[in-house]
Amino acid sequence: MRFRPWFSKITLTHAAICAFVTFPLLAAQPRDASIDVSKQDTHGIVVANMDASVRPGDDFNQYANGGWIKRTEIPPDREQVDASTSLTDLSDKRTVGLIEEAAKATAPVDSSVRKIAALYNSYMDEAAIEAKGLAPLRPHLESIAAIRNKGELARALGESLRADVDALNNTNFHTPNLFGLWVAPGFNDSEHYSAYLLQGGLQMPDREYYLADNDRMRDIRAKYQAHVSTMLKLAGFTDTDSRAQHIVELEHAIALKHLSLADSEDVHKANNTWKHSDFVTKAPGLDWAEYFRGAGLSEQTSFIVWQPSAFTGESALVASTSLETWKDWLAFHLIEAYAGVLPKAFNDERFAFFGTILSGTPEQRPRWQRGVALVNDLLGDAVGRLYAQRYFPPEAKAEAQAMVANITSAFRKRIEALSWMAPATKAEAQAKLTTLYVGIGYPETWRDYSAYEVKADDIFGNVWRAGLFEYHREVARLGRPVDRKEWSMTPQTVDAVNLPLQNALNFPGAILQPPFFDPQAPAAVNYGAIGSAIGHEISHTFDTEGSAFDSKGRVRNWWTTADLAHFNAATARLAAQYDTYKAFPDLSVNGKQTLGENIADVAGLAAAYDGYRASLAGKTAPQRDGFSGDQQFFIAFGQSWGAKTRQAALRQEVLTDPHAPEQFRADTVRNIDAWNSTFDVQPGEKLYLAPADRVQIW
Ligand SMILES: [Zn+2]
Repeated sequence: MRFRPWFSKITLTHAAICAFVTFPLLAAQPRDASIDVSKQDTHGIVVANMDASVRPGDDFNQYANGGWIKRTEIPPDREQVDASTSLTDLSDKRTVGLIEEAAKATAPVDSSVRKIAALYNSYMDEAAIEAKGLAPLRPHLESIAAIRNKGELARALGESLRADVDALNNTNFHTPNLFGLWVAPGFNDSEHYSAYLLQGGLQMPDREYYLADNDRMRDIRAKYQAHVSTMLKLAGFTDTDSRAQHIVELEHAIALKHLSLADSEDVHKANNTWKHSDFVTKAPGLDWAEYFRGAGLSEQTSFIVWQPSAFTGESALVASTSLETWKDWLAFHLIEAYAGVLPKAFNDERFAFFGTILSGTPEQRPRWQRGVALVNDLLGDAVGRLYAQRYFPPEAKAEAQAMVANITSAFRKRIEALSWMAPATKAEAQAKLTTLYVGIGYPETWRDYSAYEVKADDIFGNVWRAGLFEYHREVARLGRPVDRKEWSMTPQTVDAVNLPLQNALNFPGAILQPPFFDPQAPAAVNYGAIGSAIGHEISHTFDTEGSAFDSKGRVRNWWTTADLAHFNAATARLAAQYDTYKAFPDLSVNGKQTLGENIADVAGLAAAYDGYRASLAGKTAPQRDGFSGDQQFFIAFGQSWGAKTRQAALRQEVLTDPHAPEQFRADTVRNIDAWNSTFDVQPGEKLYLAPADRVQIW
């Protein structure tokens, strides 16, 4: 479960192809204009970013960020600008520097350093891409055209399966392929990798885009159908309006079979083991033997099917929908997946729909930054290795480790002090903290890219082979022992993640920098910003999903009935609290869909506060700019959530992200007693909660 949202992945055209798409959210300006935040002179909260005319108890987000919100413009190539923008720019700028150095290096041809340079350069060579035109796509379109019956269709659908979803780590439930594969420690055998299959088949981000009955979504659907037609036309198809209509009808039918994001997040509904014979009896329609043959999974005897009813429904659609419509659907999905590495007309048309219409972003990010994102996706560890060597000093690692230790011990004390929890449950919770693996900065081992072939002038092939390389790598791991120390984020990512099946955390080097972490800032500020992020990730161990797994990562109910009843009642109150937040007059935050992240925000903030108080060792924190230590702690937390988002993108975030929008994450503070007392929040103020209504779970 990630710390920061990633809804803008959809504007990156190759997002559908790679399994570990974790590209940084916001990198705003052209590279020469970006700010080097490491040189910033404010070490601590930024008073100029606040709005002192707002009472903290009325609107804490405005109080902490109002000045910044007022003077900040969203750059035309961004859907959002936030606290991590300049840091992500810095990370991208450093990464492109490493790529340029790699291009000059005299490393062996097959080395990852040379592959980095060749991949980046093949993406940047727009003239070569234009000159090739449709040629790279043509053989793939021809094989789709040659499909003669539903058996061959099943085979082709199987061949399109990729390891491009991730239910619990980077939490990506979306794949445009019919289904998606996730290889992870088994629910029922956490010592070995298992095969999880997830629903898929939609090009737009979520079923809501196909089904919601309102003007905005109807308008989007009409524009989507026109977009499908245009893409087919660009690829040389005739009769594209009618083809587009059938493709959209098919996707609409698939959407009807999909589980909602909130239901997909419920791990208790996901542990469904199916053998090959179960697919045939429980999900008739698709020729499963051919499908698994195409996917290279004939030998894999057992799968965990995440959303069984969607498999039943989608498989039936393979039988009931015409072969021609499925072939058009396959062709369109192929074109869409590779639009970013085809001639400009494809790329522009894709961005016009997914970037501008869906997210409201007028311009694409500069090509060099898209190139960095591509290299980060396809050769992330190779770049990360260079990044960590250059930019993550041992001192930063030591300081971050000390904060993690403090916050973990704050968590321990909170668990010990819980009055409602039985001793046996407490013991298992403590055991989870004891076995938790905390990775800081960069992984202990690096991924091997020797089997990934990169060719100098072949960006289409490079991306195609990357999807297959990743897929084969994941399939080869099935049944093998789990490496609990493996990372799922690269060091150059401005984010953090909890891996519940590995009982592990990753804090990449790139987030352990100002404004989140600054060795020269007061402890109050570091604990409020990065400390609350560390607490957030630790607490995922005990949120609605994490609490389903024991200290060895097994799905096991380690709770007494009374403990679980208390936990469920408290979390239901938190879900109800977030249900009241209105992002738009007609669209509220979904308390259930965002529950795990909200528990992590509340518990993480509480533990970070304890860790901060402990770090003072009884001394009074120094005042700064007239603010006490406690006030600085909470303002730093609020400022870490400063964000400005385009309206269309905000709608997309509310519908498709497991995180609540940033403005509401800043208001998490209202549940913490110390925030209420330090800002003297009174009944009648908008964020005021009576002590009994403040939700404190851990
Ligand atoms: Zn999270």
